[in-house]
Amino acid sequence: MNSDNITRFFFDNCNARGEIVSLEESFIAAAAHQELPSRLRLELGNFLTAASLLTGILKFEGKLTLQAQGNGPVTALMAEATDKRNIRGIVRLKENSDPNKLDKLTLPELLGKGLLSITIEPEKGQRYQGIIPLSKNTLAENLGDYFFQSEQLPSFIYLTCNGQRASGLMVQALPADKAQNNDEESWETVEHLARTIRDEELIHLSHAEILARLFHELETRVLPDQTVKFKCSCSHEKSGQALVSIGRDDAHALLAERGLISINCEFCGMTYQFGQRELTKLFKQAEQLH
Ligand SMILES: [Zn+2]
Repeated sequence: MNSDNITRFFFDNCNARGEIVSLEESFIAAAAHQELPSRLRLELGNFLTAASLLTGILKFEGKLTLQAQGNGPVTALMAEATDKRNIRGIVRLKENSDPNKLDKLTLPELLGKGLLSITIEPEKGQRYQGIIPLSKNTLAENLGDYFFQSEQLPSFIYLTCNGQRASGLMVQALPADKAQNNDEESWETVEHLARTIRDEELIHLSHAEILARLFHELETRVLPDQTVKFKCSCSHEKSGQALVSIGRDDAHALLAERGLISINCEFCGMTYQFGQRELTKLFKQAEQLH
């Protein structure tokens, strides 16, 4: 059985690609610092899986953020993945939301009137963001819409999570390439076969078994697996920068009120503390930079 890795594959006789992702330890670690009702734990699993699937888009060093925001009982659902396949994610609940009432809600019901965005931030270069309204019931269907609307790439995405393991399958038609117009198999065949996937297959079978079960009648070329892990990008330095960004007066007011400023990372539970001496040093450094 595969855990915490991505298997990518291509079809020899059709201009299409595919990926299978299975997360276990990385998912459990990413969820460990949040007290999530079971419904939201599953949705976090879906977002982390989808972000891992989407790292295939990253052609450079950087990170990809998949985020849904709305005005419902859940205000934000977010997952990040880097080119190194480091993932982390978060769910934000509206204050006073009753966690017991979330169980039967679909994604649009959880988020209310919401938007789904994919943001790509290369370490060097231009940031790119694509946004669509959340119109379908599941993240997978909304992502399918996203690729069709923004990239004109027909895609089928399937995500599932049982609370301990989170897995996903994606197949996508590649941009038309005239040199390969003699494809023997159609995109429709690939999509049709992919749609036969079942939750229990994705959760319990190895990627090789899934490929054999779904696409045994097609020729596939499988690339070496890529490892996914939970890794937070927070640091003492970044927390310091966040303090500087609220301004000298507000930062000092906060220190006066609390005696010591503690910044807690929502993703990994780390706490970073800043006292008077360090705050003075931070603002002095910030001043020298400007
Ligand atoms: Zn962190």
